Amino acid sequence: MINVTKSFLPPIEEYNSYLQRIWESGHLTNHGPFVCELEEKLKQLLGVKHLFFVNNGTIAIQIALKALEIKGKVITTPFSYVATSASIVWENAVPVFADIYQDDLTIDVNEVEKLITSDTTAILATHVYGIPCHVRELEQLAKKHELKIIYDAAHAFGVEYDGTSILNFGDISTLSFHATKLFHTVEGGAIVTNDDELAHKIAYMRNFGHNGQEAFWGVGINGKASEFHAAMGLSLLPYLEKIIHSRKETSLLYNKFFEDCNINLERPSIKNASTYNYAYLPVLFKDEAQLLKVRDALNKENIFPRRYFYPSLNNLPYVQNKNLPITENVAVRILCLPLYHDLSTLEVKKIVDIIVDNLS
Ligand SMILES: *Cc1c(COP(=O)(O)O)cnc(C)c1O
Repeated sequence: MINVTKSFLPPIEEYNSYLQRIWESGHLTNHGPFVCELEEKLKQLLGVKHLFFVNNGTIAIQIALKALEIKGKVITTPFSYVATSASIVWENAVPVFADIYQDDLTIDVNEVEKLITSDTTAILATHVYGIPCHVRELEQLAKKHELKIIYDAAHAFGVEYDGTSILNFGDISTLSFHATKLFHTVEGGAIVTNDDELAHKIAYMRNFGHNGQEAFWGVGINGKASEFHAAMGLSLLPYLEKIIHSRKETSLLYNKFFEDCNINLERPSIKNASTYNYAYLPVLFKDEAQLLKVRDALNKENIFPRRYFYPSLNNLPYVQNKNLPITENVAVRILCLPLYHDLSTLEVKKIVDIIVDNLS
């Protein structure tokens, strides 16, 4: 069976050596040595000032919204994973959807501007598939209207824009280290900011608001990650470069095999100023019927691409729907093809052949 992705697992002896040390120290969670070590290593690797490792990428967004005291309306993208919109609603704010750009599928800055009203407090945008939002234009807009910006960077691990980490844009960026993501800790995520005051707030918020054992600084929640999860991250880090390299090679193989068949499927475009992390391999079909025909043919061969992201989030039952022509059009036509570290050349060839055979 070939799925859209497959979690990389480090050699079990390497994970075991961390377990050994957990058994010796008895330190299982509550900001233990492995959590601290992983946070330090990630800060270095990603080139960011503050990074808080938390227990998943959704709580990272929720804490970001809380720390920035977001209320009222949040302008957000309809083209993302459900956690982006759900977190806004969960925090009792109202998502307002702006349509996306046809070429890179990120939130359309002009559409955002049109939607700003007196009760808009923030923009929550996703670097979808690891493609950076139009961060400079969004920053200008936010300044002009005194809005906060949160980037859901769940797909953007390691991506650089204009020579710096994409995580250095906006007030807060959030990451997911879920097992299906490029870099994972089984479950996990992170909150990233360059603002010292915000960082102070986030540090308390993810640990029940504790200020020592008996005092509380403010309201908090349990966002802590365990030593077992940190150990997975630490065991995986030495392989990260290799993982990204093999995903790049596989992506290029797809391109080559499609070219060999004279097929040029539409793809979201990546900006020149941006590096790419090969987190996903999205392709767009002519229409939904063509997508479904291809998907069914692949499924018959036990190959399971995923419809990331369908349906678009403006269709969720708990938000106010409205017509978003570009998002709606893209969401029904886009499919993420299998992409992971040990997908073989033969498997890629087979996937491409099945797709090509089912295009007409
Ligand atoms: C995976 C993902 C999340 C949620 O992360 P979890 O770690 O699964 O909670 C949020 N946003 C996007 C865009 C994602 O892909």
